[in-house]
Amino acid sequence: MNLNQNTSELQKLDSQHFLHPFTDPKALQKKGARVITRAEGIYLWDSDGEKILDGMAGLWCVNVGYGREKLARIAFEQMQELPYYNSFFNTTHPPAIALAKKLSEVTPEGLNQVFFTNSGSESNDTVLRTARRFWRLLGQPEKRIFISRMEAYHGSTVVGASLSGQSYYHEMDGLPIPDIEHIECPYWYKNGGDLSKDDYGLKAARALETKIKELGANRVAAFIGEPVLGAGGVIIPPDTYWPEIQRICKKYDILMITDEVICGFGRTGSWFGCETYGVLPDIMPIAKGLSSGYLPIGGVMISNRIMDVLIEKGGEYAHGFTYSGHPAACAVALENINILQEEKLVEKVADETGPYLKKRWQEFEDHPLVGEVRNVGMLGALELVEDKATRKHFPKDRKVGEICRDICNEKNIVMRAIKDIMVVSPPLTITKEQIDEMHDLVKSCLDLTAKKLGVS
Ligand SMILES: *Cc1c(COP(=O)(O)O)cnc(C)c1O
Repeated sequence: MNLNQNTSELQKLDSQHFLHPFTDPKALQKKGARVITRAEGIYLWDSDGEKILDGMAGLWCVNVGYGREKLARIAFEQMQELPYYNSFFNTTHPPAIALAKKLSEVTPEGLNQVFFTNSGSESNDTVLRTARRFWRLLGQPEKRIFISRMEAYHGSTVVGASLSGQSYYHEMDGLPIPDIEHIECPYWYKNGGDLSKDDYGLKAARALETKIKELGANRVAAFIGEPVLGAGGVIIPPDTYWPEIQRICKKYDILMITDEVICGFGRTGSWFGCETYGVLPDIMPIAKGLSSGYLPIGGVMISNRIMDVLIEKGGEYAHGFTYSGHPAACAVALENINILQEEKLVEKVADETGPYLKKRWQEFEDHPLVGEVRNVGMLGALELVEDKATRKHFPKDRKVGEICRDICNEKNIVMRAIKDIMVVSPPLTITKEQIDEMHDLVKSCLDLTAKKLGVS
């Protein structure tokens, strides 16, 4: 869309009329937003014609890369054929049926039914309502507490933000809602002390058992966690963590929910993050990579065990969104999954580009600012610290992550700063040559950050 206006005019209109998510509106008025006008492959262009390497695949979602004409064509054709119809009250349409069937095939065994939403946040609202309903139908209405984790991100609706674990989400309006608890997340670098990764993984998982005992298993509905915590800082659990979580959930008969909104559709080098860690959830929210962000769509995969109860004992499932299973969004998501399969993008991340990203990323371990380097699949994190030996972070008010992120912005690479953790999550289509290009850009940004901080 060309508004035929220059950048500063666009920025002025933008800050006057557009309240941005996760943005300080006052700072925005002063500085102006970066105006992105087009994209192709792994690159973006802004309104000044600058070419930018998108190390974040938008917001962790453009898994098949930008500029896929086929996805645009399918949306166009579907909108001509049937632009909208709902799926309430015993109606349906072919695109939603086809996508539901495809999802039952690509998701792990035992997850064969999908509820469609328009976002990850709506998916997690659906998760909470469905899990509580399951226990109610089994005659245990008091089993309704959700155990989540510190640093988690599960969305921005009231339920999503309540399940999320960073206090600044809660401080916005006095959340969480009742019956949501948070335990330690498996953040070895920060909390592991002298323990080996594997020992710490078991310790972090057992925080769940402690919490269940404290609350009483008869009051706990579910545990929810991202296989790899994304927006919390690409916090990668030790390999021992998830199997122990699954063991504890089984022991106390608590539903296990893996929030696959980021990890799903190839991000960790498997189709779903739970497969990377060898566990099988009862419920699995999905979004983001489901459509690679081309149209908004999310969903919740529900296990046979839960579906059986909803069918046999439930009656009407009193929950739904006007756009649940939107025809155009479903058609685009289905074709997005076809692209992932035809181009073998998940295998490519597992066998080729994931290991290569890891190899190039590990080189940053020697950098004076970098305390820990983390990788899995097409995710990478660099934790910036003041003292590598003691893992001491910089004082908060030095805003080291922000400084580094602003330098990245100037150098035309998108890297996200989460406190002082710099993260990347590029499209799964990124090539080895482009990983080299990204590496060199990141290296120069780290060097400039060190220089600015007077570190060498
Ligand atoms: C982004 C995200 C969400 C929220 O998805 P929206 O589409 O932004 O509502 C939920 N869970 C996880 C793990 C996410 O990364």
